[in-house]
Amino acid sequence: MKKYDVLIIGAGAAGLFAAKTAITLNKTVCVIDFADKPLRKVAVSGGGRCNFTNLDAKSSRYFGQNPSFVKSALMQFTPLDMLHWFKSQGLKYIEKKPGQYFCKDTSDKIMQALLKAINKADLFLNCEIQTIKKETNTFTVNSNRGIFTAKSVIIATGGLSFPTLKVSDLGFKIAKQFGHKIVPVRPALCSVSCKAFASNLAGISLPVEIIFNKEKINDDLLFTHFGLGGPAIYRTTVRDLDSDIIINFLPNIDAFSLFKSAKQNNGKKSLKNILGEKMPIKLASFFAGNQIKNIADYKDTDLKIIADNIHRFIIPLSDFKPYGMQSAEITKGGISTDEISSKTMESKVCSGLFFAGEVLDIAGDLGGFNLQWAWSSGYVAGLNA
Ligand SMILES: Cc1cc2nc3c(=O)[nH]c(=O)nc-3n(C[C@H](O)[C@H](O)[C@H](O)COP(=O)(O)OP(=O)(O)OC[C@H]3O[C@@H](n4cnc5c(N)ncnc54)[C@H](O)[C@@H]3O)c2cc1C
Repeated sequence: MKKYDVLIIGAGAAGLFAAKTAITLNKTVCVIDFADKPLRKVAVSGGGRCNFTNLDAKSSRYFGQNPSFVKSALMQFTPLDMLHWFKSQGLKYIEKKPGQYFCKDTSDKIMQALLKAINKADLFLNCEIQTIKKETNTFTVNSNRGIFTAKSVIIATGGLSFPTLKVSDLGFKIAKQFGHKIVPVRPALCSVSCKAFASNLAGISLPVEIIFNKEKINDDLLFTHFGLGGPAIYRTTVRDLDSDIIINFLPNIDAFSLFKSAKQNNGKKSLKNILGEKMPIKLASFFAGNQIKNIADYKDTDLKIIADNIHRFIIPLSDFKPYGMQSAEITKGGISTDEISSKTMESKVCSGLFFAGEVLDIAGDLGGFNLQWAWSSGYVAGLNA
């Protein structure tokens, strides 16, 4: 039997940050993971360069039943705190967009720094948990690698997305066992399947404006073989949509004025070629249709309809379906925050039980917000466990 102050289930970003924090308080710490390697999601994050934080991390960049839940943890361990820690490890970063930080080299560097920071903890990999119970003030965990006891347990088992990296619903099961509610899960920050476009557009990428609910997102869209992807679409999928999706394919140009001026000055040019100067030619062909007519031969009313279609291309909500967990960056939903203290990450229904990271019903926007949530919530759980 192995005895610890703090036992952490999940050697991901949140689990290791919790371990690092608990160690600085001289706690004896054990981290258990059923996979053969720690930090597998950090390894693939940001295309292998880990977008590890974003200075704009505030509650409006998070989604779930209670996004305000993130406020306390983000104040206790801020994106600037993360940046300072990162620098203190001698690591180099690049600021890709204002406030959005990536590793300058590969994710390996931040992974090595995290593993070094927890070298006083015992790390058990390939460790499958069979049961967990609490008697008086001690948790007992039975596993294929023996029995562990601890005064506090931190659940940091992540979400269900990207199953090729080995994921499980153990965190949800343990939470339920101790009286917590689970908000239904779905894939988020992912591509969508959508039948509105021809498959020959696959591979085309362009900046668009997406309008839905009462929000607008300006970012890049990518046509895929089965629908749409790219950052603009990923960011749409983390929101709860309650309206059709409207895409403006030329957000910075008035297409109707463009057509009218071309009709006057370039009447013999085709509509497709005029549009092709402003967007990829295959997409121009999609909007111009099959008719090969000079622009001068179009009635203004027809040009107005085409321009409106470019600026307000409507995709019915029923034709806009998140593609599935297999390629989703995160899981939306998870353990409800209702029965958890946002100040300590401790369960309100089972003392000594803590939660951190994506296992909770907190989903961040694209841009480093999910890892910042993992660091901040891990820090707070580790501080209080
Ligand atoms: C392809 C991809 C790219 C991404 N890029 C970014 C990015 O650039 N920036 C960003 O902010 N976010 C990014 N994310 C999201 C981010 O990686 C996650 O939100 C974050 O890693 C979650 O951390 P976590 O510690 O909560 O969970 P995880 O990192 O998923 O860790 C959970 C750990 O628990 C373990 N575990 C699960 N079940 C069990 C069990 N039964 N027993 C024992 N252990 C178990 C797992 O093996 C894993 O090690 C990306 C995600 C993906 C998939």
